[in-house]
Amino acid sequence: MRAQKPPYTAEEATHEQRRPPVGTPAASRRAGGDITPAGVLALQRTAGNAAVTGMVKHRWHDPVGTDIGRGPQVTVTTVQRALPIQRMRWASGNFEFTNVSPDYMDKATRVLDLLSSHSIIKKYVNGRPCRITLEKRTADTPADVIDRGPDGVQVTMAAHYFENYEIGYIAGMLAHEFGIHPVPESRRGVTEEEAMFKDMDWPVPGLSGSTMNSATAKQGDHVLGVLPGSPRYQIYKDVALEMARLLLRDATSQAPEASPKDVTDLLDCFLMDVASVAATNDNRLAAASLFSGGAVRRNIATVYEHYKNEISTNLPEEYADLKPLFPPEKVPSAVTADFGRLAKSVASAMWGKPRSVDG
Ligand SMILES: [Zn+2]
Repeated sequence: MRAQKPPYTAEEATHEQRRPPVGTPAASRRAGGDITPAGVLALQRTAGNAAVTGMVKHRWHDPVGTDIGRGPQVTVTTVQRALPIQRMRWASGNFEFTNVSPDYMDKATRVLDLLSSHSIIKKYVNGRPCRITLEKRTADTPADVIDRGPDGVQVTMAAHYFENYEIGYIAGMLAHEFGIHPVPESRRGVTEEEAMFKDMDWPVPGLSGSTMNSATAKQGDHVLGVLPGSPRYQIYKDVALEMARLLLRDATSQAPEASPKDVTDLLDCFLMDVASVAATNDNRLAAASLFSGGAVRRNIATVYEHYKNEISTNLPEEYADLKPLFPPEKVPSAVTADFGRLAKSVASAMWGKPRSVDG
């Protein structure tokens, strides 16, 4: 986490979007062709992502709009800071995206739907604005989150990650951002309960002789978030499992582009996260080293399998339908491939320009 200035300038604030009620001809007329987020979700469910993308592209090229009465409406605000940069704000209730390319609107819509359907995240955000801003970021952490109190919650996400990774991985990364960081910190009693887990050597699950310690970790809260028995780990796991259920809900209801693989991707993202924090004491770059990383990647694979078996064996009854969707055995070469994929995605942002943001 780091301090940063709020992303919206006064100029942008004058472009606040209108959110008219959906589905009434009067509302559509009053909105002058604006599109509402609830409408886009409805259109996505009934007519598919292609229809949404088509409509947004149409709107992108024709901001005045001529499609009143043609169906559900979405509010899209195009803000021009300096030519030729165009920025788009896209909202579902109090959850909102900034800087999404028209090519990725369907993905953004699904992310907003997942967040606003997630009971733990919704309760934590508690009606405040929650803004996700995509940026051209090439750091090793693809996202961070800042709780601004009454001003809301700010999530910043690397555009390359959002553009290159499947929905399950994006949902998994958001589960980390909320579930390890501000959600546990917002819960009464967690800090006190957590005190006993801090600054001590704890065994790494599945890796005899290895320990992790929040005091010496790169980020202490990451270690506290993967320690079996600690409140932060329990909350992170709860956030991830509920996210998995929402992805399964979408797959079962045959939402456009949704598939049971999304659930597997999310679980893989979660398990890779906890395993790589635990196996490296949150020094994850150690695993990326070509020369010394082989042993670390083998350890991550072992720890991954241990967490996976522990979680799938003790899955609460309400999550029983997730059990067949746990990922297959993680072999060390798959860990290597995961790090390689992330490195490639970061490189794509270094050498190219993510479509969603201005470089
Ligand atoms: Zn983190």
